[in-house]
Amino acid sequence: MRRLLDRWRARREAQALARRAIPDELWALTLAQLPFLARWPAEDLERLRKLASLFLDEKEFTGAGGLVVDDAMAVNIAAQACLPVLNLGLQPYRSFVGIVVHPDEVVARREVTDEDGIVHAYDEVLSGEAMEGGPVMLSWHDVSSAGESADWGYNVVIHEFAHVLDMGDGEPDGVPPLPNAEAREAWIAVIDAEYERFCDAVDAGIDTVLDPYGATSVDEFFAVAAEGFFVTPKEMRAEHPALYEMLARYFMQDPAASC
Ligand SMILES: [Zn+2]
Repeated sequence: MRRLLDRWRARREAQALARRAIPDELWALTLAQLPFLARWPAEDLERLRKLASLFLDEKEFTGAGGLVVDDAMAVNIAAQACLPVLNLGLQPYRSFVGIVVHPDEVVARREVTDEDGIVHAYDEVLSGEAMEGGPVMLSWHDVSSAGESADWGYNVVIHEFAHVLDMGDGEPDGVPPLPNAEAREAWIAVIDAEYERFCDAVDAGIDTVLDPYGATSVDEFFAVAAEGFFVTPKEMRAEHPALYEMLARYFMQDPAASC
């Protein structure tokens, strides 16, 4: 029975790979647009290409604000989104289907109620957003600058998909689903200490490898740490060795090793 199920799965996967095969030229273009990927060995990038095909087969892209999402754009997003789950598989992304791509940043009207019950409205500028159950929203302007913005540790796709991983067990809290309570406790001890230290540095006006936006909350800190881990791994490891080690175990990758 098990063997039958495995065979059925393998056949479905082969069909999806054939349906969504990424042509050589388009894959070469994608790698050229994302120079930080050059750190990964060729066989890893071949696995990334396959995972991106399966991702494209499962997800639905929608352009907003008149934007048409073409194959090159979808493959670019898929490659970046699949990098964190290269060794985890697509299961953690199965909680949603839709990816909405805007031409540029989006201004969202927000409301907060203070302790006196007074509602305050404000505008928030978003380059991306991940919500429980989806969809994931991305600004194409930010996605397409990923090659250059890697130099300062910024990557909107990895950021939003880190939030998706975090939300695998409910509200974002900087802790993705982990195998047991001890692992969760150990994670919290590391990330809380690193977050405190990071907030102190940002408060003191010290230049940080990670985006100062991470000081907003521990879940944002986890998302910017994931960005740094994948696009500026060596610098991130030097500034946050304990956090780097923890993320390396979680993602089952060690990008700083191949710098
Ligand atoms: Zn965020």
